[in-house]
Formats: sequence, structure tokens, C-alpha cells
Amino acid sequence: MTDAANQPLAKAFNEETLKRYIASQPHLHQIFGNDLSDVRVDEIGDGNLNFVFFVTNKQAALAFKQALPYSRMSGGARALTCERLAFETAALREFARLAPDYIPHIHHFDTEQSLMVMEFLSPHIIMRKGMIDGVEYPKFADHISTYLAKCLYGTSDFALDPSKKREMVAYFARNVELCEITERLIFNEPFMASDSNRWTSPALDETVHAIQNNLALKLRVADLKYKFLTRSEALLHADLHSGSIMLTEDETKVIDPEFAVFGPMAFDIGILIGNLLINYYAQEAYATAENDRAAYRLSVLKMIEDIWSGFIEKFSHLWHEGRTGGAYSDQGFAQTNGATVTALDTVLHDYLDNLLQDSIGYAATEMIRRTVGRAHVIDVDMIKDDENRAGIEKKILQFAAQILQSPKKYKSIAEFLEPAKQAK
Ligand code: ADP
Ligand code: MG
Repeated sequence: MTDAANQPLAKAFNEETLKRYIASQPHLHQIFGNDLSDVRVDEIGDGNLNFVFFVTNKQAALAFKQALPYSRMSGGARALTCERLAFETAALREFARLAPDYIPHIHHFDTEQSLMVMEFLSPHIIMRKGMIDGVEYPKFADHISTYLAKCLYGTSDFALDPSKKREMVAYFARNVELCEITERLIFNEPFMASDSNRWTSPALDETVHAIQNNLALKLRVADLKYKFLTRSEALLHADLHSGSIMLTEDETKVIDPEFAVFGPMAFDIGILIGNLLINYYAQEAYATAENDRAAYRLSVLKMIEDIWSGFIEKFSHLWHEGRTGGAYSDQGFAQTNGATVTALDTVLHDYLDNLLQDSIGYAATEMIRRTVGRAHVIDVDMIKDDENRAGIEKKILQFAAQILQSPKKYKSIAEFLEPAKQAK
């Protein structure tokens, strides 16, 4: 339990206090050339829970992220402990150990001030914004599938010593506050009557009520939630949507894992795919006379296929390269013969098959909760015309509901994407 009395006494920084803070920290001061006379401080205003400052002078550019004991969006009304930034920093450090190319460099962390200082990513932009603008990211699928394979495999029982893993599971299990938000916003509220829900009404009323009264669908979501609660398979980013990714055509960086916790691998993969699919459906509204976005839409589906196939390939490679952890360890199967190899290949095959089914399930859950629940995404919310927006949202809900209510097992990611491809 977090004790409010033990909360760090973090106070919001302003330009003046931030400069004074930098001056008091020799290694930060040095990064700015020990001269703060030309330092500029700007708050970047698009985060939900925290404050991020862009601090620059002619020598350096750093991002300062501060967590205050409330959520930024609530203007102070919603209390939250500052500890979330410690979990975020610990997760970034663990991911940086496994996949350094895809994580911003962390320069500094201060518990008292609830402050983390990292590399300022530039000219990287938030992926969601880039996709809305129709920017192609040809290397993204390769990058993110590497990130996912390395981080998920590397924090699983296939790789980690069991004692080490248990310690990590225990540490991140204390991230209770943000896990509660995940559970409530993703798995609970959208599937029941709740004052927090918000959808385009009355156009979607009937569709939403049908979802909330669909027993088969609700049982599937309950199953996915149960797995989220009980399966400490790997360290999850746990909020891996296109707003937590900053990129250029050549580089991809994952930010903002403050929801980090051990959970089912499929959760991270599914949340990402769900957000890409929402963008796919929303593209229809961005079509102009010069660019109908048809090619871009197809490229988004291709991207999802490439993420999955890249992930499978890289994860399988890691599995074959060596299982150093407590599960299916190489040591335990040292007397290798043909039958052993075949049996272990079957284990991997079945594991990845289940992962596909659950990733699809989490993707569909995410698509519904972003349309019906409290936290929407700008891909769709920026569509001003109610009728146009409702039409797209209805397709998103129908696609996702169809997946969750059916007992169908998907043979491939392409089979899962087929109805989206057909949607006009
Ligand atoms: P929150 O936890 O409040 O959602 P984020 O970590 O998502 O905060 O950061 C908020 C915004 O700040 C991001 O959407 C992005 O625009 C910007 N940002 C965050 N980290 C960096 C960074 N390292 N470099 C540049 N911009 C960043
Ligand atoms: Mg964020």
C-alpha cells in the first residue's frame, strides 16, 4: 500500500526553479555547458498525467518529466501518487538493457522531486500525429517487432533466472494505482453502464448497448482481464499505443511506460495493433481530392502484418538461441535428439498460436474502449462532423465486437485483418 504521508514533496517546476535545480546537479549542469544563461524552458502540453518540459540551450536539449501527486489533465482534482515515475524509469531502464536502440537515453532520476531527465527526441514526433498526417514509416514494423521480441522475451521465464524474475514481478506489482486505471478503463467501464463512458450519441447508442449486453463478448473480455490480472509472463509497457511512440522515418523510440507491470505478452502487442487499426479506419475521413489515402490505409494493414511476422521470427530466434531462464530451459533438455527438438518446436508453436489469439482479443478490446470509454484517441475524435465520425466509429465497434463474440481461432494475422480490408 502506498502511504500518502510518505509521498515525495514534489512541487511543480517553473523556469526559475528548474534552472536552479539544474545548477544544483553537477552532471546536468555540465550537460548544459555549465552555463544556464541561454537556457529556454517550455512545457510540452500534450501529456495526460504528467508534466514534460523541453529544456534547451546551445549545448544541449533534454526532456524533464515530472510526476506530481495528481493527474495533469484533472488540474489537481484527481490525486495520484508520484511513485508512478519511479516505475516508468525502472521500466525504461530494463527495456534499455534489452533493446537500447528503441529507448531514449535517461540522464537522471530524482525521487524527491519526482523528476526524470531524458534525451530530448528531435525531430521525432508522436506516431499518432504522423499517421494522421499520412506519414509513412517503412522501418517501424521492423523496429517495434524487435523491441517487442527482445523486451518480452528478455523479461520472461524463458530468459530470466526465476529468483530475479520474482523480485522484478514483486517490484512492479506495487504499481497498483496505474494498474487499477488500466483495469477500470480498458476492461470494466466500457462494457457496463458507467458515467465515465462517452460515445457519439445517439448514433452509436444501439451498437454500444448491444455490446454491453452481449454475453459471449463480455465473457471473452473477462477472460482477457483475468489473464491480465494473473499472468505475470513478462514486463509490459502496458500503454503501448501510437501516442507512446516517437519516431522518424529511420528511428523509433518508445516512451511513457508508467503503467508498467508484469502481465501477458499479448497485452502489449494487442494494444498496439488496436490503435493502428483505429487509425486505419479513421484514414477514410482524412481523404482529400489529391490523396484518397487508399494506399496509406493498405500500408497500415501491411504494417500490422509485418509487426506480427517480425515478432514471431525474432521471438523464435531468441527461443532457439537459448532458454536461460526457469522455463523450458536448455539445461533441462540437454539430451537433445530429434524427438526433443520436435516436441520443443511444438511448444513454441502452440505458445505463439495462443499469443496470436490473445493479441487479437486485446486489440479488439482496445478498439472498443477507445470508442466507448473515457479515454478516446485523436485519430477519431478530431473528425468534427458527427455523422462522418459516427460512421467510422460504428465500423470500428462492429469489427471489434465480431472478434470478441466469436469463438473463432485465427490461423494468421492476415485472416484477422481480412474484414478490415473488406470494409469500405
Ligand atoms: P504523460 O505520461 O503525461 O502521458 P508523456 O511521456 O506521454 O507524458 O509525454 C508527454 C509528451 O511530451 C509526449 O506526448 C511528447 O510530445 C513529449 N515528450 C515526452 N518525452 C519526450 C522526449 N524524450 N523527447 C521529446 N518529447 C517528449
Ligand atoms: Mg503519455
